[in-house]
Amino acid sequence: MTKLEVMNPATNDVVQTLDYTDEKSIKNSIESAHKAFNTWKCVDAHERSAKLKAWSALINEHKDELAALITKEGGKPYKESLGEVDYARSYVDWYAEEAKRLYGRTIPANSSSKNIIVEKFPVGVVAAITPWNFPAAMITRKIAPALAAGCTIVCKPAVQTPLTTIRLIELAYEAGIPEGAVQYVIASGKVAGKVFSDSPLIQKLTFTGSTNVGKQLIEQAASTVKNVTMELGGLAPLIVHKDADIDYAVDQTMATKFRNAGQTCICANRVYVHEAIAEEYTEKLIQKVDNLKVGNGIEKDVDIGPLINKKGVEKVIDQLEDAELKGGKLSRSLDDITSIGGNFLKPAVIDNANAEMKVMHEETFGPIIPVMTYSKIEDAVKYANDTEFGLAAYFFTNDYRTGFYLYNSLDYGVIGWNDGAPSAAHAPFGGMKESGYDREGGIEGIEPYLETKYLSIGNM
Ligand code: NAP
Repeated sequence: MTKLEVMNPATNDVVQTLDYTDEKSIKNSIESAHKAFNTWKCVDAHERSAKLKAWSALINEHKDELAALITKEGGKPYKESLGEVDYARSYVDWYAEEAKRLYGRTIPANSSSKNIIVEKFPVGVVAAITPWNFPAAMITRKIAPALAAGCTIVCKPAVQTPLTTIRLIELAYEAGIPEGAVQYVIASGKVAGKVFSDSPLIQKLTFTGSTNVGKQLIEQAASTVKNVTMELGGLAPLIVHKDADIDYAVDQTMATKFRNAGQTCICANRVYVHEAIAEEYTEKLIQKVDNLKVGNGIEKDVDIGPLINKKGVEKVIDQLEDAELKGGKLSRSLDDITSIGGNFLKPAVIDNANAEMKVMHEETFGPIIPVMTYSKIEDAVKYANDTEFGLAAYFFTNDYRTGFYLYNSLDYGVIGWNDGAPSAAHAPFGGMKESGYDREGGIEGIEPYLETKYLSIGNM
């Protein structure tokens, strides 16, 4: 297979046909990134910062074009795609500033004749593999800190959504970032993952995607002891305690769950609501879910676009059937949910959910939300932590004791307290347990691209 057909998941039409990059050309890209590293690492931090700022300005100028691409190849509603472009750009802005703040330090030595200096150096050539659900943001979260640190980077976007990456990298060249410093390859994950892992010229592998693929890459990368960053799957719990503002909690549940038709790693996957307020919360949630408009994301006012492909649709249907079998009550029938056809599913609430259901243990990546009740807050914590994932968790309470108890007890890297949208370029995003390690965003997000070196000077 030498050609890749990029499909529109809303229409199943071909958006564009691309040539696959063969293995030899992937190796050539790595070599040219390696060559470029020797020059880029010597460019001073202020100039690297200026080039990232110029890139950010061009992304902003091309915002509409980039958003339309995201919608065409990924199915995301256009208004959300515009939001994603801003979000993607915020990482470029943030790391343009952080480039100038890669401070070292001096350490008092144990002898007056010695001096110890600690400095940060770029790790080298980076390989990046990214998923389709945020084709702009997942890539700028890696390119921006890598370039800011003085690394060069070869990117492999998901085969479903390569066009956004290609356009972003073209804009980087237009902004004056050297062609060797940032490159893309069009390849399946299997092929690129193997070439990247085997290459002695690549010092770092940064991956965003599913936990299963992440595990395979960790194993492969071990053969050359690469520095590895893993941003993996999630199964976010959302707890609504009895003292919460119910209307606000419903609005925030909508915001966190139904973005990108439920296809985000930090989407609330399962709701635990206190029994005293469960009826009111669920009724209000169903009302809002019923009002969501489903359709081709390029049309105005669409809230829920298509899922990425048939496999994604089948997984959601399997979870719905399983939930019904185990006593779940769907807010609309399965026939109604699937009535549009293609990759579209109407959103729904699964009331009366219980811990035996697949939907409470498997990442859903679709527009359905199960609601289960609890009576004691300790039980909510037990259910929430009963998973191998540890990416994001949400809770709603206006009591500060309950809030801090939940914050301290939940084993998750990103916590939203009365907040359904916690991600930001200035905050460290990432998971615990099998959701991965390292962080993207914040001052932490550049650390994975840096080596610490110290110099001990004697006899001074
Ligand atoms: P995926 O199947 O793991 O794919 C992600 C990337 O990995 C794609 O580029 C894919 O390439 C590549 N890949 C697939 N098999 C590979 C292999 N054997 N070796 C190397 N690379 C391989 O995940 P997805 O379904 O696209 O994305 C959804 C997942 O990403 C969810 O689990 C979600 O939670 C997670 N995610 C996590 C974060 C985070 O920040 N923690 C953010 C977004 C998404 P192809 O092009 O060949 O498919």
